[in-house]
Amino acid sequence: MGETMRAAVLHAHGGRDAIRLEEVPVPRPGPGEVRVRVHACGLNWLDVGVRRGPKFGPIPLPLIGGADIAGRVDALGPGVSGWQEGDPVVVYPLITCGLCEFCRRGEPTICPHHRIVGEHVDGGLADYTVVPAANLLSKPSGLSFVQAAALPVVAMTAWHMLLHVGQLRAGETVLVQGAGGGVASFGIQLARHAGARVLATTSTQEKMARARALGAHQVFDYRDPDWPDQVLAATQGRGVDLVQDNVGAATWPHGLRVLARGGRLVTCGSHSGAQVQVEIGAIYHRQLRILGANGGTYPDLARALALVEAGAVRPVVDRVLPLEQVHQAHRILEEGRHFGKVVIELVELPSEATRP
Ligand SMILES: [Zn+2]
Repeated sequence: MGETMRAAVLHAHGGRDAIRLEEVPVPRPGPGEVRVRVHACGLNWLDVGVRRGPKFGPIPLPLIGGADIAGRVDALGPGVSGWQEGDPVVVYPLITCGLCEFCRRGEPTICPHHRIVGEHVDGGLADYTVVPAANLLSKPSGLSFVQAAALPVVAMTAWHMLLHVGQLRAGETVLVQGAGGGVASFGIQLARHAGARVLATTSTQEKMARARALGAHQVFDYRDPDWPDQVLAATQGRGVDLVQDNVGAATWPHGLRVLARGGRLVTCGSHSGAQVQVEIGAIYHRQLRILGANGGTYPDLARALALVEAGAVRPVVDRVLPLEQVHQAHRILEEGRHFGKVVIELVELPSEATRP
């Protein structure tokens, strides 16, 4: 193998041109780590946020972004067992301490020492990456690497929001906001699989049709200012039990308004804005709950992948671009024109094209 590889490296926070395509040294796995030959890397809003600048603490630069990694195990560091070179894998993107009170009680997503692959340590927008062996999961069989790279962040996040934090139960009604996004498109499928009645909001007729195809029972156009009234009408004035929201300021006030008494709004993002006015009286009078969800746990991801393996839910890929078009990929995310995931496919080495 050569000593250098292609990588999309972030050198400064800012616009899309802050990402540069470079040749950098191939990383070596340390104790407990593996090197993964990256076949595909999905992008998330996380990548845009990391590029624009830190919200929750410092981000080390230069940095190779990309949290959603699918590829093959390429080399094992000292002390690694259970994996072999060539194994097809996906990467759980949270590296946690395992020791703090939150890790010990099964809430590693709020580990104060947690690091995210592609945010705090180098990620998958490169030919190779190094991650802890403990972060590997087998790639669901029957999925391409591109499809598999569309999964980790959205699958674990949607599972964490709806089932871990939101405690969604069969028979409840869910409203999934911004159905074009990756977390939302997975959330629609998960909620449907969990036996919920699924409502969704999005824009454009095409996205509405795609949300219905994923399993949404009813879809509302959020460009229509009357959509909250339409949601209330669709629930005979009762409202919904759970709102899944990663849109933020643009949707929060409406999401709270359409909650049923005792309903809960689960949030995991705020890319439309992070400041909202909330009427406190509405929260306590109707006994609403506002719940934060930050990523997902390894078991969340494993359970979501098991559903994918069983064919119950599927990754949604909007489009596939080569590493050289990573700037265009960021543009697509920022302009919100996608439905599902934008995935970067790394060029396969000739020797890998023939492998099983
Ligand atoms: Zn911890």
